[in-house]
Amino acid sequence: MSEGARIEVLGSGREVGRAAIAVWGPSGKAVLLDYGVNFDEEDRPVFPGHIRPRDLEAVVLTHSHLDHVGAAPMLYASVRPKLVATPLTLDVSRLLLLDMIKLNGPYLPFDEQVVDMMLEAAETVTYSDSIDIGDFHLGFVYNGHIPGSFGVLVEVDGKRILYTSDMNTIETKLMGPASFNGLSADVVIVESTYSTYTHPNRRDTEERFYKSVREVVESGGVVLVPAFSVSRSQEIMALLAERDFEYPVWVDGMSRKVAELYLEHSRCLREPALLKRAISMQNLVRGWGDRRRAMKEAGVIISSAGTLKGGPSLYYLKKLGGDPSNAVFLVSFQPPGTPGRRLVEEGVFEDGGEPLKARLEWFDFSSHTDGRGVIEALKQIKGVEKVVLVHGEYEGQELLASKIREKLGVEVYIPENGESIPV
Ligand SMILES: [Zn+2]
Ligand SMILES: [Zn+2]
Repeated sequence: MSEGARIEVLGSGREVGRAAIAVWGPSGKAVLLDYGVNFDEEDRPVFPGHIRPRDLEAVVLTHSHLDHVGAAPMLYASVRPKLVATPLTLDVSRLLLLDMIKLNGPYLPFDEQVVDMMLEAAETVTYSDSIDIGDFHLGFVYNGHIPGSFGVLVEVDGKRILYTSDMNTIETKLMGPASFNGLSADVVIVESTYSTYTHPNRRDTEERFYKSVREVVESGGVVLVPAFSVSRSQEIMALLAERDFEYPVWVDGMSRKVAELYLEHSRCLREPALLKRAISMQNLVRGWGDRRRAMKEAGVIISSAGTLKGGPSLYYLKKLGGDPSNAVFLVSFQPPGTPGRRLVEEGVFEDGGEPLKARLEWFDFSSHTDGRGVIEALKQIKGVEKVVLVHGEYEGQELLASKIREKLGVEVYIPENGESIPV
């Protein structure tokens, strides 16, 4: 019955998000690395491929984004495989999972109670820890993506498999760069969200953002910054706090709660003092009175959702978008089909196609590395024989794969969902 170890891609094969990767050991049990969801055009969750919970030794959650944790509670309705994550990932995941239940409850095969059953099965870890379970030895690697995130090193059947998960190779306000120096791995499963696109220099983006914010507020306008409540909002909060920005900053949605969780686990932050200062200087929106107040004076409003798909940011856009003295500064990737994308491409907002008069700019504050960063990261790792590209679009992955083959002389796989790779 011994077959040797293999990697089975259940999600994030030739697609961004919906991460779900099973590593099978020789005795027929698996460790599952992430189990996330994507959302379709109607905003319904799309789940990864099925795996029997009783075949799992452990479920490892690399970070709190829903495309990595959103389907994990499904595995905890009957049996309780061990759940492995950092304490911060668990806290933020709970917040996001409960929010998803509120929004998508009827489409989900679990409720709040199952989420809590899952969290009860948790064994929390930090970067220096390792875990032995069944056929597997697990270690955790700093990957620079968002506070609390890690990559996973799985040792099984004499092989070392590194799953980077989403990673970032530059320094941001919240995180240091991923560091794989000194690691050795036979197989590297690496994200490829930006296979062909190269991010601009982050310091330049930060400066350009801050300069633009000042231009707008100094001439009396309000800057709306639609931002995802996990990590991106806090990045912008910290950026403004670092520069002692003296105008009012309002933070709306779940972002403030997440910022407080980040501070409770401040060891996960590169420079906790920045976020601490942000929380003490900036205002939390507590209700409709605050929302109206925030829009009356020159300043900045940081609000979810980052793509203007619902959440308070859409409300602010409708109120502020028709005035040319205001501005909308997008700080996240805007997927096709979102109001944010429509704003960028057609310059309109609201259902009636109202033209945007406020100043519109987009800034690249990505928490994912790019193709160049993937290659640099791979060069840091010793002994690599196989590279598996996941969490990316196929066209870009093909180009990145040929670059990796050329530069590193290793085998590169671009698996589809459902495909297995022997190790
Ligand atoms: Zn992801
Ligand atoms: Zn992520």
